[in-house]
Amino acid sequence: MYLEDTIIAPATPAGTGAVAIIRLSGPRSVEILGAIWHSRNKATLEPRRLQLGDVIDPETGSHIDRAMAVVFPKPHSLTGEDVAELQCHGGSYLVRRITGLAMRRGARMAEPGEFTRRAFLNGRIDLTEAEAVADLVEARSESALKQAISHLTGALADKLGGMRRELISILAHLEAEIDFSDEGIELPSRSEIASSIERLSHDVAILHESYARGRLMREGARVAIVGKPNVGKSSILNLLLGTDRAIVTAIPGTTRDVIEDSIQVGPYPLVLQDTAGIRESFDEVEKIGIERSRRSLEDADLVLAVFDSSQSVTEEDVAIAHHTHGRSGVALLNKNDLPAKAQPPDLRTIGVELPILSFSALRADGIENLKCELLRALESLRGHGHGEEVAISRERHRDALARALDALSAAKQSAMQSMPPEIVAVDVTLAADALGQITGEVHTDDVLDAVFREFCIGK
Ligand code: GDP
Repeated sequence: MYLEDTIIAPATPAGTGAVAIIRLSGPRSVEILGAIWHSRNKATLEPRRLQLGDVIDPETGSHIDRAMAVVFPKPHSLTGEDVAELQCHGGSYLVRRITGLAMRRGARMAEPGEFTRRAFLNGRIDLTEAEAVADLVEARSESALKQAISHLTGALADKLGGMRRELISILAHLEAEIDFSDEGIELPSRSEIASSIERLSHDVAILHESYARGRLMREGARVAIVGKPNVGKSSILNLLLGTDRAIVTAIPGTTRDVIEDSIQVGPYPLVLQDTAGIRESFDEVEKIGIERSRRSLEDADLVLAVFDSSQSVTEEDVAIAHHTHGRSGVALLNKNDLPAKAQPPDLRTIGVELPILSFSALRADGIENLKCELLRALESLRGHGHGEEVAISRERHRDALARALDALSAAKQSAMQSMPPEIVAVDVTLAADALGQITGEVHTDDVLDAVFREFCIGK
């Protein structure tokens, strides 16, 4: 049944707008469109050419809307199937009504991601490009956009394709060794095979390591703002966001949950998390907030640790300093508009290793400095020297590359130990399959379900 039926879905978001697009894909697309839409000048629909017409209910003959229509015959369409689109007026009732008309003529409502899934199954795009479509739509920053467009134009697929081809050529040599071992044909030595595998492992490892950078570009970095109550965490969050997102009061413990919002620093999105403060508490509600703060701190890429310069350091500050050990980020000595009781050396004494900035949330100065310092911390997380290189950005990619690395390491071992070529070939095949799973050259329904689950209906 799958791929033989014709699917339909609005391609534009629900709600009111100037125009809505309803898309059909499948063998009956053009026929179903023709049953509910009629050209104004009775012309037949030419491929890829918009025409004005009327949507008419074929059962009652009532006029529903005036709409533009266009058809894209297979195979040069979005999905590789016959595709028909209606651009009608953008009312949600209207869209439901027209979709209903098409469904009564035999179209089925598309499942989430089904258009893109069909494009994949019909060989129009590979899985990394399908994922890039989702990333492009969801991009919230310049870096996410850049990453998505690079994957959409096949940069990752090309890189993986190249590696896979090399593995297949190694496999061909091993096969030749199996088939012609007695016939005196000159074949690469085992050490040559081992060094080819080694070289490839190195490339796969670089791509595997690019995950941290790729994820940062796609999702941005999570920044946990930590500090004892009342040091000014919420004020700093509001200042960075440029809004009054968090409640600022002089009562300690007001921020009881983790407040989250994002800003752009340089090309990256930063997801700022204002935590409830990490301290002992007997208040049940506050305890939950504190637990969440701990988790937010553990998951964060960067820490923004806030201290009050108008008070001497306390045990709570020591605990905060302890939580920042080994982390990247920035320490702020806030409230520098008040007489100072704590200085940078005091923070060093309690073990703060982060760069320290003197700050005043009240005066709102130093904000650009703070952003610069956050950007510097981010750049160091991102790693140097691989600026323009392709990066993976999904756990699915990272897991497959890890499997490929394991298989390559086993293959190299057995190649060097002069194991039979069949044994080496098993691991080389496993590595090639793992790479193929990223692009979808090797796929199972489970993998496709997982990839397309993220998509919405109509994509
Ligand atoms: P949080 O509990 O750490 O989130 O702290 P808040 O942002 O709620 O601030 C606690 C109190 O400190 C509020 O009364 C703020 O107005 C005040 N405050 C925050 N930053 C500064 C600052 O730089 N200077 C001064 N003088 N007061 C500040």
